Amino acid sequence: MSPSHNYPDTALYIDQTWRTAARTLAVINPATEREIGRVACADEADLAAAVEAAQRGFRTWRSVSAFERSALMRRAAQLMRERAEDIAVTMTLEQGKPLAESRLEALASADIIEWFAEEARRAYGRVIPSRSKAVRQLVVREPVGPVAAFTPWNFPVNQAVRKISAALAAGCSVILKGPEETPASCAALVRAFVDAGVPAGVLNLVFGEPARISGYLIAHLAIRKISFTGSTAVGKLLAAQAGAHMKRATMELGGHAPALVFADSDVPRAARLLAAAKFRNAGQVCIAPTRLSVEHSAIDEFITHFTAAAQAVTVGDGLDTRTQMGALANERRLRAMEELVSDACSKGATLVTGGHRIGRVGYFFAPTLLANVPLTARIMNEEPFGPIATVASFHTREEAIAEANRLPYGLAAYAYTRCAATLASLGDDIESGMVSINHHGLGLPEAPFGGVKDSGYGSEGGTEALEAYLNTKFVTEHR
Ligand code: NAD
Repeated sequence: MSPSHNYPDTALYIDQTWRTAARTLAVINPATEREIGRVACADEADLAAAVEAAQRGFRTWRSVSAFERSALMRRAAQLMRERAEDIAVTMTLEQGKPLAESRLEALASADIIEWFAEEARRAYGRVIPSRSKAVRQLVVREPVGPVAAFTPWNFPVNQAVRKISAALAAGCSVILKGPEETPASCAALVRAFVDAGVPAGVLNLVFGEPARISGYLIAHLAIRKISFTGSTAVGKLLAAQAGAHMKRATMELGGHAPALVFADSDVPRAARLLAAAKFRNAGQVCIAPTRLSVEHSAIDEFITHFTAAAQAVTVGDGLDTRTQMGALANERRLRAMEELVSDACSKGATLVTGGHRIGRVGYFFAPTLLANVPLTARIMNEEPFGPIATVASFHTREEAIAEANRLPYGLAAYAYTRCAATLASLGDDIESGMVSINHHGLGLPEAPFGGVKDSGYGSEGGTEALEAYLNTKFVTEHR
């Protein structure tokens, strides 16, 4: 960290004004457990003002041409690039991830904004051939209206930028409830749009008590669309509220990604790539591979390479440039890791590596691999959202696919094989919103990103992500 870098307190942003609040919450650096700043909490009057602003903002923004919206978004992208270094330090201080990962996240946000800026100009409608010469039938795409978006702490910029960019590209206004634990880098993203010239009320940022804010916004008549990223439990709650108020919703929820490694693959490479994907952001990634299933003849080789990769990870303060895996983002995750390991071991699992907290200060946990884990263990059923993977063997492709599909989750799945027939069947048979075979290729702005089953619905990438913010209107005209 540069000695001059001060972690900023975070204010609310409502109707083109940064607002402080009577109530604030502490922001903790997970590497030191020290308070580094405060975040403002919105009260009901702030929320009412945000909704009122978003309504006015929507009226303004929907009449700005797609061409101009696109140009403004490109300016915001450029500002994110210019500010990436500073935002990266802020993010690492509040979230714990290594500086290199924070930098990448800040820079990648610019790519995401630009991609949606391009799509903004392609929200095409169509003309349907009519049955009479006197009739013209038009299909028009319109922005859904003011959006309430809720984003979590694991990717403070990435989770927010997908929702903001898609909504703004479509012509919607947004009230974003950012993550209270990692607010400042999320606010820096909002600031980039503000400095790029987004009109009053088009983008608003609030923090506070999540349930009170979501309860207020989802029920409000003016809000027309909900987008949430977080746990399946909370997602089901919010989806039910959205349903009760007939609001459109996108739900990007938890996962428990299977990874199938066949003996015909490059097993050491698969082990290396899966370890890198598992321990990125200390495993606090909804698409992190967790259940590793390896063909029985290759399992020893796989465990050797995966273990070596896990043990080679340098764990430490994200600001130290040598660090490859930082602290977990909060104490809850640390406790959860300890409980998952102890539960699995008490039910007969073998701890291959890791399994313990590192040090006494900071929420550090060792990269962990568990083998021989019974299906009754919690880790085989609950999303760990931390640096723990399990490994088991399979004998047939059918057995591997059955294990991949065993859980109600269906977000990401991975596989390694050189056999064309296996490859094709995996793409067809795995019940998952995303399947990545022989590489890790998920999360690009131009590709769909979303789950099935308990992992939610809707997409946060690709053209589908823009669709989520557009209504289809049919207009028929008789001359
Ligand atoms: P949590 O379920 O309490 O919170 C998850 C997120 O939802 C947080 O951002 C929180 O602010 C928000 N939230 C909680 N209740 C809400 C409500 N009533 N209205 C609106 N937002 C609400 O749990 P947590 O301890 O923060 O995280 C634990 C679990 O959440 C993880 O195990 C993981 O499964 C899931 N999670 C998933 C993602 C993801 O990228 N899909 C991100 C963060 C957390």
